[in-house]
Amino acid sequence: MVGASLASTARRWSRPRRLLALLLALLLVFGLSIAGGNALDVSIARADLAPASGLIAVLALIARQGWRIPITTAGVTAVAIGNLVTGLPVDYVLQTGLLRILEILLFCAIVERSGRLPRLDSAAHSVRLVIGATIASAFFAVGVTAVRLLAGVELAEAFANDAFVANLVSFVVATPLAFARVRQGATASRTEVTAQWLLMAAALIVTFTLSVNISLSFLPLPLFAWAALRLSAIGVTLQLLLVTLGTTIATILGWGPFAANADGVRDAIVVLQGGLFIFLSSTLVLWSKRVEGELEIERALAKDRVLRRAVEQAQTAFLLVEPIGDAYIVVQANDHGLRALGMDPDNAFFSASSEINIALPEDHPLIEGLSIVAGGEPRWRGELVLEAFAGRADAEVAIERAAGDKSGVMSVELTDVTEKRREDRRLRALVERERALSAQYQELSRQKDDFVASISHELRTPLASIVGYAETLDETELDPMQRRFVDTIVRNAGRLQERVEELLSAAKRAADSVDDPHPLALDRIIGEVADDLRAVAASRRVDIVVESSATALPEVIGTEDSVTRVLTNIMSNAVKFSPDDSSVVLSALVDDETIELFVRDAGPGIPLADQERVFDRFYRTEDATANATPGTGLGLSIVRTLLDGIGGSVLVESDGEHGSTFIVRFARAHDLDPAL
Ligand code: ADP
Repeated sequence: MVGASLASTARRWSRPRRLLALLLALLLVFGLSIAGGNALDVSIARADLAPASGLIAVLALIARQGWRIPITTAGVTAVAIGNLVTGLPVDYVLQTGLLRILEILLFCAIVERSGRLPRLDSAAHSVRLVIGATIASAFFAVGVTAVRLLAGVELAEAFANDAFVANLVSFVVATPLAFARVRQGATASRTEVTAQWLLMAAALIVTFTLSVNISLSFLPLPLFAWAALRLSAIGVTLQLLLVTLGTTIATILGWGPFAANADGVRDAIVVLQGGLFIFLSSTLVLWSKRVEGELEIERALAKDRVLRRAVEQAQTAFLLVEPIGDAYIVVQANDHGLRALGMDPDNAFFSASSEINIALPEDHPLIEGLSIVAGGEPRWRGELVLEAFAGRADAEVAIERAAGDKSGVMSVELTDVTEKRREDRRLRALVERERALSAQYQELSRQKDDFVASISHELRTPLASIVGYAETLDETELDPMQRRFVDTIVRNAGRLQERVEELLSAAKRAADSVDDPHPLALDRIIGEVADDLRAVAASRRVDIVVESSATALPEVIGTEDSVTRVLTNIMSNAVKFSPDDSSVVLSALVDDETIELFVRDAGPGIPLADQERVFDRFYRTEDATANATPGTGLGLSIVRTLLDGIGGSVLVESDGEHGSTFIVRFARAHDLDPAL
């Protein structure tokens, strides 16, 4: 930690505390202005040495959003009042005051980079500060010269080089003190710091008391360099401030080489502060450059530490192997690398030394790849089984020549893929099993088809004979009742024949065998099918009720055959699954496009999960199978196929307990459309 700067600490103060600090600072500015004025004899030509610009600039820079101009104005007003107190004319004070406000705002604008305060931990920041100070001070000096000329001062006298250096020094002293992070750059020990301060003091005392020789004024130069290279931010900036104050006061008092060699105090100060500026700015830039370098090294080291940790803790094993004679020596390994060699990285021996020295045994599985790369190949990749990673392990291996290494060192990268391989094997076994099951299923399904086909063949012959005899009977003399019975036998035997054919082709060609769909009287077919089924239904006292809504219906699109078969299937299912002494109820709903026929029974119903599946081939609910209700599971699949062929559809509604309602939707034939 290098700590915060004085400025950022002040920014975090509470409002009353900040206000108090501002007042004190303004008082100091006022005092400095009076001191500056009094130190030199006050006249228009000598009045602008108040070293307050730097201090006001610091206040302006710290100021929060929107406060910069008011605070600058307040600071400059304090200076102006000081000027008035020391007896300067009002218009002159106003003019220079305005110039000073502009000077400080200009300085702030240059120093502050895209809204961020200066930090001085890079040489660029410090150079910017020095440049900002120079430009702002030059602006002020030129302005003041002009104002003095306007006030009638002689050109030689009016030239405001004193204001230039005073402001320059004041900016360069105050800003770093406020903005450098207090403890940053502290390298020297306490003793060293003390020694440096004492020597600096001694050098200044020697320069300013014992001698008037101007060349001695360079004595502190190496001490400034020392400070720049070893002291903390606060040490350096405080020293610069004190040296500036001390030498300026000494010179004003007439001590030292500057006072002795110059033409009056004002010139002495100009020369002194000119020199000071050079010392100060080079010390600052040197200090910043050093801190910048240290920061860079720190960053690089931190990055290095992160990378090193990442490599050390990586789940990939890294080894560096050097061929020496016939042997292969592992010279470096990360933790996982050691594990790959079957060693324990927590062993104190490894943690103590980052370099290791392990010869691989002659029969080690890695030797083959290593010798290939050592023999000149750029790389080798493969998969090995190692006695490592706490047991036998499958490892993917990549061996390469280490980049940029001429001694033949090779890098080895090992990835433990034991788990992955195990998972692969498990998956492969699963897929195999799945495949076997599916083959078994296909075989079963084929057997089922064969079975159905052969049963149907078996039925064909006896059926043909039933139909033949019934038809013969039909052609004989019969009383009306006998005729009704024989008709029913003929019709149903014929239907049975159709079913058998259907079973044979398992509904595949069911839709092909019919003729083109055309308008049909649905109500008529409903009546016929209901009549056909009544005989069977009556034996179990199941009543087939055709409600009035289903008796006079508009025509639908279909074929005689398909609609009859659809209705027979659905209604015979309803009768089949109905309990004794119950009813099967038919109703219908007509709208513009469709006719919906509802076939409701009081049977066991169909569970929700089965409601879609009952339309699959051979699917029967558990209930149907358990109760041995006769059937093949083909009827509803045929219904769906047939309806598809005539633009209809079917679905079932049931709560799975209280009966089922099959809803058969037919497309309406529109009387007006001759195409239908
Ligand atoms: P099958 O009736 O020959 O078994 P279907 O394809 O006609 O074949 O019907 C398939 C299954 O749907 C039946 O086995 C039965 O489980 C169920 N099912 C069909 N209609 C009804 C119904 N009205 N009530 C209860 N379950 C039915």
